[in-house]
Amino acid sequence: MSELRELYQTMILDHYKRPRNRGRPGAADRSAAGDNPLCGDRVAVFARVEGGVVAEVGFEGSGCAISTASASLMTESVKGRRVEEVAELFDRFHQVVTGASEPASDLGKLAVFVGVREFPLRVKCATLAWHTLRAALEGGADAAVSTE
Ligand code: ZN
Repeated sequence: MSELRELYQTMILDHYKRPRNRGRPGAADRSAAGDNPLCGDRVAVFARVEGGVVAEVGFEGSGCAISTASASLMTESVKGRRVEEVAELFDRFHQVVTGASEPASDLGKLAVFVGVREFPLRVKCATLAWHTLRAALEGGADAAVSTE
């Protein structure tokens, strides 16, 4: 288990140092801003939905390693998925980071955040980008969310 834990920490640090899909895709038509005052994390998520599918997604912001890595891995995980699938994936991710269920294979790389359940304050860091993405997908242009 400790080897797995090290692998997970390495992946989180890698995504923190080299976030994927950073920036606003030129054709983005959905966006939301998210704020986690407890930690000082801020994120803006941008997306373009085409035919019910998240065709493009990107993010900007600043925050702790967990929030940044989560935003990065989230963008990789949701690109190309249907909007309903994204909602289901967020539900499962939320259950895993809060300890309500164990990671299953369909969670893919998102399983690296399983250790967050031991640190309840960090759950907000790990889910901030997801709440923000959901607001963008549901709210259209310029939605805003806060973890408080
Ligand atoms: Zn944080």
